[in-house]
Formats: sequence, C-alpha cells, structure tokens
Amino acid sequence: MKRRNTETITINNVKMGENHPVVIQSMTNTPTADTEATIKQIKELEDAGSELVRLTVNDYEAMEAIPKIAETLRRDGYTTPLIGDFHYNGHILLTKYPESARYLDKYRINPGNVGKKDKHDSNFSQMIEIALKNDKPVRIGVNGGSLDQELLTELMTQNSKLTHPATAQEVFAEAMIQSALRSADFAMKMGMPKNKLVLSVKMSDVQHMVDVYQKLASRCDYALHLGLTEAGSSMKGVAASSAALAILLQQGIGDTIRISLTPEPGKSRAEEVNACKLLLQSMGLRYFMPMVTSCPGCGRTNSDKFVYLAQDVTQYIEENMPIWKKQYPGVETLTIAVMGCVVNGPGESKQADIGISLPGSSEAPSIPVYQDGDLLTVLKGDQIKEQFIEILNTYIKKRFSIAQSHH
Ligand code: SF4
Repeated sequence: MKRRNTETITINNVKMGENHPVVIQSMTNTPTADTEATIKQIKELEDAGSELVRLTVNDYEAMEAIPKIAETLRRDGYTTPLIGDFHYNGHILLTKYPESARYLDKYRINPGNVGKKDKHDSNFSQMIEIALKNDKPVRIGVNGGSLDQELLTELMTQNSKLTHPATAQEVFAEAMIQSALRSADFAMKMGMPKNKLVLSVKMSDVQHMVDVYQKLASRCDYALHLGLTEAGSSMKGVAASSAALAILLQQGIGDTIRISLTPEPGKSRAEEVNACKLLLQSMGLRYFMPMVTSCPGCGRTNSDKFVYLAQDVTQYIEENMPIWKKQYPGVETLTIAVMGCVVNGPGESKQADIGISLPGSSEAPSIPVYQDGDLLTVLKGDQIKEQFIEILNTYIKKRFSIAQSHH
C-alpha cells in the first residue's frame, strides 16, 4: 500500500512521515506533578513499545516537574521523546518555564483552546515562537470536543447564506479542517518549517473521523497523527479505534497513531500500546512479535486442549521475546498456527511457518505438526506442549540466528 507523501518529521531518535513505519504513541494518565508515578508509567509505556509519550502539562506544578521527569528517564536509559500537551495556558507555561520548554521534545497545541478573539493569535504565536527558538516540532491537535467555536460560527453563518447549504455535520468537518490548516499556515508564516508540523483532527464517531481525515489528507501534505478520541474502554475502544484507523491506514493516511482507551481498574496503561501493535501487525504494516493463529473452537472439539496450547504458546513467546529480539532478528515475522481439528487445522497449519493441528472429538489422538508447509512430525502422548515448544525453539534458532542470516 502506498503511503501518502509527507515530510519526514524527526523527534530525537524517532522519525515519522514519508515511508517511515507508522509510529506508536500513548499518553500518561498520572498527574504530571507526581514525578514518581509519571516516570514509572512512562517507563511502562516505553517498555511496551510506545515510541512517543505525551503527558499533560496543565499547571505550574506539572511544568516544573518536566526537567526531573526527563532527566530521570534519560539517566535510566529511556529515550522515548516526551510531548507536552498544552491547553488554555500553554503560552504562559512555556514562557514562564524556559528550562521545561527545552526539556520537552515536542509540543501539542489545541487551536480550539488557546484563547478567544485577538488573544487567540497572540497566544498561539507566543507558543510557536518558543517552539521555533527551541527547534521543537509541534502538533496542531484539533479535537471535535473543543473545536474553535468562533471559527465554527463563522463557517455556519457563511453556509446559511448559500443557496444549497451543506449539512451541519459537513460544516463541522470543514471547521475542523480549517482550524488545523489555518493554524499550520499561521505557524509556517512565522517560520515554522513543514517538517516540524504534525496535524490531527480527532473525533469520537468512527464515520465522521474517517471522513474528516480523508478530506484533510487530500488538502495538505503535513504528517498526520491519527486517533479516535473518546474511544471508550477495552473491547469497545479497541474495536472502534481499529475500525477507524484501519480504514485510513489502508489508504496510506496516517504517520503516527494513538489508541485512546478509558483505563480499566487494575489494567496497565500499556494496553493502549499493545492495541496499536496488534492493529499494525494484523494489517501487515509492522511486526512486533510472532503471531499465533488459533481457531475459535466449535462443537467438533470436545476438549480445551488446543485453547490452552494456544495460550501457552502465546505466553511463551511473550516471555521470550525480549531475548529473541536480540538473538534472532526477524523472529517477529514468524507465524504459528494452533488449531482444533482436521477441518481447517492442516490447511491453516501449512500456511503458517509452524502449525499444529489437534484432533477433534472423533479423530484419532495423533497430532500432526507442519513446518514451512510440510508435515514435520506427528506427536502423541501427554507432553505435546513441551514437544511443540522444542520444535518451535529449534526452528527459530535455525531460521533466525544472527550467524544464519549472514549466510
Ligand atoms: S478448526 Fe475445527 S475445531 Fe477449530 S473451529 Fe474449525 S472446525 Fe471447529
């Protein structure tokens, strides 16, 4: 799939846009002034694979905490760029705390929240000036929930005078786009280069969000940050976000993504990073760890054996991935099938790099294992998991060892 042409945006060690891989980002939900909790969560997010982390900078205490957060992370070997999320008072905070402004790696500015009337432009330009002085990229992050009301009213009024007025939804989308484009234009006129600007126009409804991003993408070549805002919790949030993001990514739109999930008690914030990784890997856009294909099971299988085996294999992969990543480059593209019966079992198993097809209720208790499309062996007995993992290890070593890949 061809990606939309954009500039390359460089944020420290991370590159996005053009043909760089789609970058995963996330946002903390700890009070930023609580440096200990914030540092801990940023580490958790980076460990999970977040390549950029955004944190709210909402008051003096939060802004004062930035140097300590950044320094501790860098000292501990964490490199993910830190993005300051500013609303309402960003111009004051960035001006009052020049040191913190330098420690942040990128600023997010919401043009709907920078002040009204003549204050809007002066506050906005104050922030852009600081970004320019510190050579920092900026995301102009428009959000449906905080759209610039003056701009919306202006476009609504214009629209009402037309012989064939557009729908309210169309005008809303146009206001989102214009808010982003006018702000970017304003920043460029102040000297901000295009390769320092990222735009987003997040909305909470899947169809509206897809529509507004498609329109924006066709009207500019800025790098785009994709996200469905207020996506909801767990399954609902993942499903809705994946639906929206997948449509756009498939069209080559989107240079960085975030899946915003309402946190669930007891669950790690890193869930939103895992969701991004699974989405990108399911689409074949990026690879993070071997994928296990397993069937849903049905009445043809009368035991949970394959369900447990699929679970055990997935867990084994997750546990070993940190070591494998270093020892076996490319292992993240491996595919494994764990199937429940003869109907689709051998077929799926042959398509995977390694596949195992457990017997259904009326089948003989022999278990064929396939490797690169051919039958490798037939397992019997009660050590199936151990034997299969052994086969997996041998295969990974043979195919992905660093020594091997040089030949
Ligand atoms: S592979 Fe067999 S057990 Fe699994 S869902 Fe298909 S028919 Fe059912």
